[in-house]
Amino acid sequence: MREPKALNIPLPEKEPKVSVGIVIAEDLKKSVRIKPCCKRCVVRSDDGIERLIEGWCDISLASGSKGGTVELTDNKGGKLHGSRLTIFSQRGKPERLFVDSITVGRGFHWEDEKVQSFTGEITVFSHKGFIVVVNTLPFEEYIASVVSSEMGKSCPADFQIAQSVAARSWAWAFWGSKHRDDPYDVCNDDDCQRYQGVTDGFNSCRRILSAATGVFLKAPSGAVCPAYYHKSCGGHLASPQMVFGYEVDGLVPKADMEKELSYRVDQKFQYFLADKYVYENAYCAPLNCTLPKSEILGGVDVDMEYFRWDYTISSEDLCSIAEDKFGLKGIKAILSIVPSQRDPSGRYCKMKVEFTDTSGEKKELVFNNQYEIRKFLHPKFLYSSAFEIIAEGKGEVSKVTLRGAGWGHGVGLCQMGGVGMALAGKSWKDILCHYYPRCEIVKAY
Ligand SMILES: [Zn+2]
Ligand SMILES: [Zn+2]
Repeated sequence: MREPKALNIPLPEKEPKVSVGIVIAEDLKKSVRIKPCCKRCVVRSDDGIERLIEGWCDISLASGSKGGTVELTDNKGGKLHGSRLTIFSQRGKPERLFVDSITVGRGFHWEDEKVQSFTGEITVFSHKGFIVVVNTLPFEEYIASVVSSEMGKSCPADFQIAQSVAARSWAWAFWGSKHRDDPYDVCNDDDCQRYQGVTDGFNSCRRILSAATGVFLKAPSGAVCPAYYHKSCGGHLASPQMVFGYEVDGLVPKADMEKELSYRVDQKFQYFLADKYVYENAYCAPLNCTLPKSEILGGVDVDMEYFRWDYTISSEDLCSIAEDKFGLKGIKAILSIVPSQRDPSGRYCKMKVEFTDTSGEKKELVFNNQYEIRKFLHPKFLYSSAFEIIAEGKGEVSKVTLRGAGWGHGVGLCQMGGVGMALAGKSWKDILCHYYPRCEIVKAY
């Protein structure tokens, strides 16, 4: 997942509608199950034929002469075909609908499948040989779902509002650019933004966010800021230039504290990891972000230490990763792992790994960004590339222990830090000014 460059998009003039891919071709599904939430629903095919449904129904790819179309089978065995099926409530208003087996955390260490419910319009069709489900809804409803999917409903209101402005700006800045060839504007996962339909906190979140409907971050260039955010910076925000490979207008690396640090984190990373001042002053440190993680994290997040963490992986696992994820063949052992070039937050941006294969020949992998480094060092995905590495073994590496900081790419809003700021009594505007210091807060509609 390399980030595309955000386009220079001006502010929207009115609230748009957004189409979200909730089951996408990459999920490789040939069928999906849906169920109206309480009442009966109407399913309409593209040639206008309608059928009432209640209870769980299957929608699968049609076979034979009807290839390329989808077929609904309801709980009484009734069928409906079409190249596109759209689901409505009986009164013409969109009904809440359950969809089974929605993939969350695609490719990350928290990947899972969930039943989720959705408002708005749901369409089901075949794309690239697989079932695709698209949910179309008003942008502000989408944003309330993103905010309540990203973090728990106990997060302070000012944090939720700050998060909504970041999510709205990010979505608008990248509108369609990550899914140019797909039949939806955004996907439902961390690749775009986490969208889990009608979450537990959805309704209370909608009420809270009404304080900042249509509010965006405007970068110094006048375009909407691609307002990146992440779970925890670990005490210092990362450099977009070094993390993504390009400058992001309006975003800068800085300490996640009221004042700057007196030293450079990239030069004294080990010191930074244990620095008492950072533990006491970073907004995302457990001392300041004091709510229990079970209350502030989103439903799919793993309850672990986000600010500082330890992680050990065996060389066998790393060799399997080199083969499975990076296509090397016949790897026998690891000779060395040498990360280099830290960004201002301490995140490594380069890494070289040397192997021997079964014929005794040397092979190497060279990584030039934090994303690949994180992909290599964990069977799913490593929390962040800000770490100290301790490789054990003589001649050959037997295992690797990492002591790290933060969770995510570290650019823009630090969610744990934003919660810490709100708990310290800062307003949503203070939070946005801290994390996006060069941006202006503007209301577009
Ligand atoms: Zn996406
Ligand atoms: Zn932070």
